[in-house]
Amino acid sequence: MKKHNYSAGPCILPQEVFEKSAQAILNFNNSDLSILEISHRSKDFVAVMDEARALVLELLGLEGKGYQALFLAGGASLEFLMVPYNLMKTDGKAAYLDTGTWASNAIKEAKHFGETIIVGSSKEQNYNHIPKGFAIPEDASYFHCTSNNTIFGTQMKSFPTTNVPVVCDMSSDIFSRTLDFSKFDLIYAGAQKNMGPAGATLVVVKEEILGKSGRYIPSMLDYEKHIKAESMYNTPPVFPIYASLLTLQWLKNLGGIAAIEKINEAKANLLYAEIDRNPLFKGTAAVEDRSIMNATFLLNDEIHAPIFDKMWKEAGISGLSGHRSVGGYRASMYNALPLESVQLLVDVMKELEAKI
Ligand code: PMP
Repeated sequence: MKKHNYSAGPCILPQEVFEKSAQAILNFNNSDLSILEISHRSKDFVAVMDEARALVLELLGLEGKGYQALFLAGGASLEFLMVPYNLMKTDGKAAYLDTGTWASNAIKEAKHFGETIIVGSSKEQNYNHIPKGFAIPEDASYFHCTSNNTIFGTQMKSFPTTNVPVVCDMSSDIFSRTLDFSKFDLIYAGAQKNMGPAGATLVVVKEEILGKSGRYIPSMLDYEKHIKAESMYNTPPVFPIYASLLTLQWLKNLGGIAAIEKINEAKANLLYAEIDRNPLFKGTAAVEDRSIMNATFLLNDEIHAPIFDKMWKEAGISGLSGHRSVGGYRASMYNALPLESVQLLVDVMKELEAKI
């Protein structure tokens, strides 16, 4: 029986994506060839790339608004340096919001390119909330934030209004909730949460912000070169892009982001209600900043850990342990995780309470 997979990423994808991907490995588009052995320049794969790029903009409501979608390699971590390469002016500065491990990794890279101003940080409180009321310098080349902090279970519920370009790492909550995506000038996300398998990175960029840094940009790191080459500057990660297209099609058929948002809210409400009600557990993130994707929580008394761990594992739950840097538990409830899996976890938490 399939496990109830709470892994933080790579993570659960829709079952139909697994099945269609498996079929394409054996015989892609009835071509009698595997998707793994065809040229990325073949007609069939160019069609995959074109549809995937168009569907990203359609789902985000960004069609015809001057944006380009790219499928690159190197993970979200490569974007930590591609962003300053492409956007930070040679004598300029950039503003960053420090909300967790990934944000601070992005900051580390930016510091090599120029003055990097940390406009707000929750580091001293172990990143248990999103800093509020920060000011973004008007002369910054861009402002960078992380919409969802995968490790700490916090999520930005609002974004600042500013005249400087807004860059957002949406690796762990892209396509999960409705936002006015046109408020962002550059969005990036590793595929391996809500979009597909690891190996592809999505970049959505407003073209007008490019070409202004005054830097020499190595070709592979230059967004303009990737746009010109229609996301095929070199061999792209063919299979992760195909599986991402299947996930995007699944999402569209479900009713798009607005439809999945309702399901995601129902899942998060169900779990957080139990964390708050059950005297054995406590949440770690500030209530107003709680993530609907990654719920982080602890046992009030660690003494119950062995029995709880045995119970959820026996119930067929996988991937519930917290990130190695924080411990405790983390329930990642990405788009493809069904409500029934959350109900099962809640039932196990209730059973633990009854037992003790
Ligand atoms: N940003 C966030 C918010 C993440 O959750 C992760 C990975 N979990 C990364 C960046 C790094 O992504 P990658 O492994 O694709 O480089």
